[in-house]
Amino acid sequence: MPELIVDLSEAKEFLKEKGCRTVIVQIPEGLKDRTTRISDELSGSCENVFIKMDPCYGACDLPLHDKNVLNADAIVHIGHSAMHRHKDIFYVPCQYRISGEEMEENIARLLRELQKRKITAVSLVANAQYGTYLPQIKKSLFENGVQSFIGHGTSRLAGEGQIIGCNYTVVESVLPNVQASVYFGDGYFHPLGLVFSTDKPVLVLNPLHKTVEEISEKTKDRFMRKRYLAIAKASEAKNFGIIVSIKSGQRQKEKALELKKAIERHGKKAYLLEMDLVAEGYMTGTGFDCLVNTACNRIVLDDAENWKTLIINPTECLIVLGEKKFEEWKPDEFLH
Ligand code: SF4
Repeated sequence: MPELIVDLSEAKEFLKEKGCRTVIVQIPEGLKDRTTRISDELSGSCENVFIKMDPCYGACDLPLHDKNVLNADAIVHIGHSAMHRHKDIFYVPCQYRISGEEMEENIARLLRELQKRKITAVSLVANAQYGTYLPQIKKSLFENGVQSFIGHGTSRLAGEGQIIGCNYTVVESVLPNVQASVYFGDGYFHPLGLVFSTDKPVLVLNPLHKTVEEISEKTKDRFMRKRYLAIAKASEAKNFGIIVSIKSGQRQKEKALELKKAIERHGKKAYLLEMDLVAEGYMTGTGFDCLVNTACNRIVLDDAENWKTLIINPTECLIVLGEKKFEEWKPDEFLH
């Protein structure tokens, strides 16, 4: 079974070389059960280890303010690859260790599915936890007559072929050459976003479940119907709350200001709302007809149904205002 490795050896070297006395360590939600182990291990290299306990879902969310307040020398960010590069930030992107035998089985499984569908050219993508295996998959596919491409994305991404929930540019760069995209990894969070960035089939090669699954057009259609409904409802809104997150990689103040002007141009009221963590519970009693979220686009894509107030993304807001057409809908991305 693949095992998730958190290798702190380079982080320890970094802290020692820098002579750090105080460090803030960020651990993603899925790894919080390793909190004490990680703290104990880093304590040998740095006197004061603060573990940041607020939720963290990506490298877009660095505790830069906390660093100032606690007068820390560095931040160690675990679980995601580099987004905001800085001399005081060390990233520990965790990776799955998959045996050679398991990889052979995964690739054989994928080949069978590609052959069944007569697909001979694909783009290969993964998140940070599986990205190191893409070259091996590419080589084996080539040996079996399937061409594959590992694309380059924008500077928000740390590696070739890497996707994150708000950036799929690696696929765009190779899309004209391929018949389908193959995501290597587990879960639906990343491949679901991928589906909206390409009109070609998306296959998920899941090494944990040992499956190959196509994300169907039905899933996409079902989702799009919900977004169109949200846009239709938002057209009746008279006042809008525009959410700006202050998180380092989710901040879009300029976009929010442009949206405010656009809403006002159409004779409606707009209010600027500033938050760190964008969470539904904080909106209780505010009375907005509609919220426009400029922070992580996945809050709307994955969670809009759990919000009591109608919530849409910036592109959807422009559609509501008639400044874009329905046909121009796409998931809002962060490009840098
Ligand atoms: S903005 Fe959202 S999708 Fe993008 S890295 Fe941050 S948490 Fe992930």
